[in-house]
Amino acid sequence: METFTQNIFLTKKEKLKCQSCGKAIVRGQAFVAESEKHKGTCFQCSPFVNLAFLKPGNAAMTRRSKKHSKLCGVVYAWNTRRKRFERRGQYVEGAAIITAELECKADAAERLEKNKKAAIVRAEQDRIYISEFSQAIRAYYPNCPPGREIKIAEHACEKHSGRVGRTAQAKDFDKKMIDLAVEAHIRHAETNYDNQFGSGIRKREIRSNVKGKVSSIMMQWR
Ligand SMILES: [Zn+2]
Repeated sequence: METFTQNIFLTKKEKLKCQSCGKAIVRGQAFVAESEKHKGTCFQCSPFVNLAFLKPGNAAMTRRSKKHSKLCGVVYAWNTRRKRFERRGQYVEGAAIITAELECKADAAERLEKNKKAAIVRAEQDRIYISEFSQAIRAYYPNCPPGREIKIAEHACEKHSGRVGRTAQAKDFDKKMIDLAVEAHIRHAETNYDNQFGSGIRKREIRSNVKGKVSSIMMQWR
């Protein structure tokens, strides 16, 4: 059985309209559509109105409840800081949630063991990534203060965590990627960049204020 899936956006737009009942949908309300640019309906007019809500955070429940439901409405909310939509749970049939719970109970121990193993593998991958990336930074920036290359590499590792194939490419760090990571680090650690926010100055201007200092430190570290 293929699950029919649709998106439910807690919209960031002000003026959307339900194409079925014509009701206005304002910011924060549910808009059911392929994207915010497509035509869509309000939640009341959507096929999800009588379904049950499953909160996010449990990957096995999310996957299994969807599998057992004829319909699945994935809720997305806008993250202003990250400038992207993020999952906030899903609407599925109530019976599908019960079936999923039973399945999860049945193999809980097995999944726990598997997750533990996966966490160990991930930690090892991170260790290799940080080690190789920090060596590459040190090679391009031999005068960078001791230990800084590790801080920069750890930050990059955090930022890219979950990216598939990350470790496979650990040996292929290109110059540009290293420059960008070093530049960002200097901006935050060596200039008053972070303190200038909230004072009404635009990000672009703040960046340009510290640009000279950042480039001169990059030269020193090279
Ligand atoms: Zn409607």
